[in-house]
Amino acid sequence: MVIAADGFESEFGRWAGLKSVILARNDIISALQYRMINVDVDPDYTDFYLGSIAPAGYIWVFPKGEGMANVGIGSSINMIHNRFELKNYLDRFIENHPGLKKGQDIQLVTGGVSVSKVKMPITMPGLMLVGDAARLIDPITGGGIANAIVSGMYAAQITKEAIESNDYSPQMMQKYEKLVKERFERKHLRNWVAKEKLAMLSDDTLDKLVDIVSEQVLTTISVEAILKAIAEKYPEVVKELEDLI
Ligand SMILES: Cc1cc2nc3c(=O)[nH]c(=O)nc-3n(C[C@H](O)[C@H](O)[C@H](O)COP(=O)(O)OP(=O)(O)OC[C@H]3O[C@@H](n4cnc5c(N)ncnc54)[C@H](O)[C@@H]3O)c2cc1C
Repeated sequence: MVIAADGFESEFGRWAGLKSVILARNDIISALQYRMINVDVDPDYTDFYLGSIAPAGYIWVFPKGEGMANVGIGSSINMIHNRFELKNYLDRFIENHPGLKKGQDIQLVTGGVSVSKVKMPITMPGLMLVGDAARLIDPITGGGIANAIVSGMYAAQITKEAIESNDYSPQMMQKYEKLVKERFERKHLRNWVAKEKLAMLSDDTLDKLVDIVSEQVLTTISVEAILKAIAEKYPEVVKELEDLI
């Protein structure tokens, strides 16, 4: 879906008159990803690189089978000065990574990714926004596929109810908003605060945080588990998140 900022709205949102689709610049990530072949990466690990290597964002290496990987970057548009800069960051990273440098890119995907808190309203009578259109991407990971599927499922449930009762009123649509809020609102608020915090940290501090996390025995890998691990040793870093983790 179309991402827009600073007074611009998505094509769909403008049509629907929903102000919730407007985003601040710090809530928009510009993303670019290569599908690479003939690379040498560990197929059992997904790698994330944070810090000045990808300002207010990260670089990812997702193995995709024998010698293949998705290698991408996302950075806040607040930190990117022109459209070539993002590509330069990623190309420089690949150039300095022996396992990737020898590979070739066979496909390029680019796009905008919203990283906002849950914003309401996302409905009008007879209309529900799901997935990216409803700005439901996780603000810290930039992952939106699962949330698009879950919100799509909720919308389908309420659509069925609406059709069966021939009721497309605001009250019926708000049942969908309630399901979305219950599922995502608190989690996205926590991850949004963590995202804003993370964007401010120096490379040295990020290195320390990674050291701390690697010393902990994590039974699950989740944003919550990582934040809890950091809170144990570095409470000041996650101070504003205390109530949310
Ligand atoms: C480079 C990049 C990498 C990403 N990597 C990941 C990842 O690893 N994991 C993850 O979870 N998320 C990732 N995301 C985010 C993820 O792609 C989205 O969150 C997800 O695709 C959202 O799904 P959606 O169905 O809401 O929207 P979309 O996937 O955007 O689907 C909307 C569809 O509607 C169509 N459409 C638009 N307008 C109209 C119209 N007027 N009429 C008919 N059809 C229309 C579009 O063509 C599109 O097919 C990434 C995003 C980018 C840009």
